Amino acid sequence: MTEVQLQEFKLDPDSELRFEVESKNEKVVLEVKSGYAELFGTELVKGKPYEFHTGAKVAVFTWHGCTVELRGRTEVSYMAKETPMVVYLNVHAALEQQRVAAEQESTRGPVTMVVGPGDVGKSTLTRILLNYAVRMGRRPIYVDLDVGQGHISVPGTIGALLVERPASIEEGFSQQAPLVYHFGHNSPGENLELYNTIVSRLAEVIAERCENNKKASTSGVIINTCGWIKGAGYKVLTHAAQAFEVDVILVLDNERLYNELKRDMPKFVKVVYLPKSGGVVERSSTQRAEARDARIREYFYGKRTPYYPHSFDVKFSDLKIYKVGAPSLPDSCMPLGMRAEDALTKLVSVWPSPALHHRLLAVSFAAGPDDDVLHSNLAGFVCVTAVDMERQTLTILSPQPRPLPTTVLLLSELQYMDNH
Ligand code: ADP
Repeated sequence: MTEVQLQEFKLDPDSELRFEVESKNEKVVLEVKSGYAELFGTELVKGKPYEFHTGAKVAVFTWHGCTVELRGRTEVSYMAKETPMVVYLNVHAALEQQRVAAEQESTRGPVTMVVGPGDVGKSTLTRILLNYAVRMGRRPIYVDLDVGQGHISVPGTIGALLVERPASIEEGFSQQAPLVYHFGHNSPGENLELYNTIVSRLAEVIAERCENNKKASTSGVIINTCGWIKGAGYKVLTHAAQAFEVDVILVLDNERLYNELKRDMPKFVKVVYLPKSGGVVERSSTQRAEARDARIREYFYGKRTPYYPHSFDVKFSDLKIYKVGAPSLPDSCMPLGMRAEDALTKLVSVWPSPALHHRLLAVSFAAGPDDDVLHSNLAGFVCVTAVDMERQTLTILSPQPRPLPTTVLLLSELQYMDNH
């Protein structure tokens, strides 16, 4: 336990300050006093206070040396000289060369996928590479296939964003007009058929958009993935690599995965092994669940900038709720020409019941159940905060005021207890 209120650190060139905020309702303020520093690829402004809250695990890196001040209680805070940042910068430089070539030849920029087990810094490396690209004036596309954390939108989804400015230190990448698809579970293993279907769909839509946006196309795509890398998890990764037609796969901290990908990927795909940072912190399953919860809370209530969601009642009869995936039957029981797996991507009508309490519902852009729902992206999410079977109504927490759009709602397995 440390009870330090004010700490000053003098960082040498090429080193970083790592700290964690653990205690509940704790706040730590970071300020660069002199020199230059960056946080996961975003430059810090000298003299500007940045706030970090419970659960934050942070590294402030400096290429040229700096002095940093921390105010508040940190559970851990130390300086580290050993970091893989030079290696990551070299990866960025190589991607940048490919972007220059793409620009000259009017071709597509590099499509890069970051893979590795859980807690090796995949999301962090994705953020660093996107930040470096956008700081060079590029407009890369950020794709997040990690349904467990859901950095774009909420957990249980996959999505993409056009990155037009570096991530905000406190709030991450700007969430304007993200492209989001519903999965509804926090691991791809819950429905592989559906996961692969939406990954292919997202890849297709991004390819189309790149055709109409030369700047994004030459800037390329950076894809973050789930930490599930064995057995079916490996197949999911190779399917994503194919769907996005990746050029580069960055493998963090797992030699077996690196060798498997080297063996199985076509020759034109560059598979690169990268060390993980010693600073990356392993999270317990409770911490992961807390992070998921915090992500959903942020979706409704905002992070630094507060949002004010609406709460209202909706009649059962005004709702069209579906879940994706009927129980699968053996092939011998299926109608002619249908595979058992087809059931996993079927829409099944859900009648409201107390089981919906606390569940998230995805608001689809699809107008009706016959409108290719799986291939339609999402407008957003609402959460069921109460079910009244007598009055036949649901109480809904929603970012938008009533009425709820009369489109299709998709039931997610993810839950959120709204005790804000
Ligand atoms: P993954 O995506 O592989 O699960 P993350 O990138 O989410 O891993 O990293 C796990 C945690 O470690 C995050 O909370 C992140 O902020 C933290 N982290 C990453 N790099 C560092 C570092 N160099 N120093 C301290 N914390 C770090």
